Amino acid sequence: MAKRDYYELLGVNKNASTDEIKRAYRRMAIKYHPDKNPDDKEAEARFKECAEAYEVLSDSDKRQRYDQFGHEGLRGAGMHDFSRMNVEDIFSMFGFDDFFSGIFGGRRRSARRAGPARGYDLETAVELTLNDVARGTEKTIEFTRQDRCAECAGSGAAKGSQPTGCPSCGGSGQVTRGGGFFQMVSACAQCGGTGKVITNPCKKCKGTGKVPKKRAVTIKVPAGVHEGQAIRVAGEGEPGQNNGPNGDLYCYVRIKPHEFLERDGNNLVVVVPISFTQAALGTTLDVPSLNGARKLKIPAGTQYGSTFRIKGQGLPDMRTRRIGDELVQITIETPAKLNAKQEQLLREFATTENKTVSPKSKSFFEKLKKHFGNN
Ligand SMILES: [Zn+2]
Ligand SMILES: [Zn+2]
Repeated sequence: MAKRDYYELLGVNKNASTDEIKRAYRRMAIKYHPDKNPDDKEAEARFKECAEAYEVLSDSDKRQRYDQFGHEGLRGAGMHDFSRMNVEDIFSMFGFDDFFSGIFGGRRRSARRAGPARGYDLETAVELTLNDVARGTEKTIEFTRQDRCAECAGSGAAKGSQPTGCPSCGGSGQVTRGGGFFQMVSACAQCGGTGKVITNPCKKCKGTGKVPKKRAVTIKVPAGVHEGQAIRVAGEGEPGQNNGPNGDLYCYVRIKPHEFLERDGNNLVVVVPISFTQAALGTTLDVPSLNGARKLKIPAGTQYGSTFRIKGQGLPDMRTRRIGDELVQITIETPAKLNAKQEQLLREFATTENKTVSPKSKSFFEKLKKHFGNN
């Protein structure tokens, strides 16, 4: 599926300021919020697309990559896999949960509880050739992820200091509003529900406890994978909070177009143009395959659109391991320019044409004559 332009998704222009982008994202997030659009898959997809756009445009490094190289530039930039995240996680990731819980009410934050929480999943892409798909392969994927800051061991507090108990909630991470019968407990806004605040932030991570880090992992790609399939690498996502487990990395498969071969399920299709004399007289062709050029005999009298099957030269099925075939589709090229000699020969040939050389054409025009003959 082609990705849409991030600026267009949020409805801002290319020079929009960070504030404008933030406002535009909030507007879109409210518009497509699943609470406002129950059971509307399209709204949910749009909601997640906008989150992805906001992730990129609100981050100066990612935005610069995107401006310069488009979607391609974000490969390995440590993008979150929003399709696998729930709404609350998306908001709390952007630090918007208070804003939105005010609008939609009652939604419980899940990712910012004081206890251990699993890290977010990341996504990246792995590009394969058809030969990789045929044989299976190993690929080393490079990407950037937010790792625990080594300077402060992920606490976010400067060396020699520690996060202190949040004065607003007394360290519980929760505040109680209202009184009497209707009491409402919600996460503390000042500490984000962690119960701790950082008064002296770590210089290296600016108090976030995380720093971007380049990673390289080698993944095994099974033979027969399809475009868009994801290969999951457990534990290579972002680190969890409060010693929660890491999220996972999902590598989406992209298959580079082959110069000649097109995939159709487990078969490979190649279209080969031949001349009308080759079609009429028969010939032997060199046709491309995944294992180099192969000889293919074309019998005399081959018609336009005829398909020849080369057994076992396709791709393996991921489950059954059965290997598909290569299908060679013939098209016939009519000469566009004839020299005098060729034209003379063809005119001579034309005088000999009758129903034995072109039976289909002959019967078609005979039927046509009968059809209109009486009018
Ligand atoms: Zn730090
Ligand atoms: Zn607090």
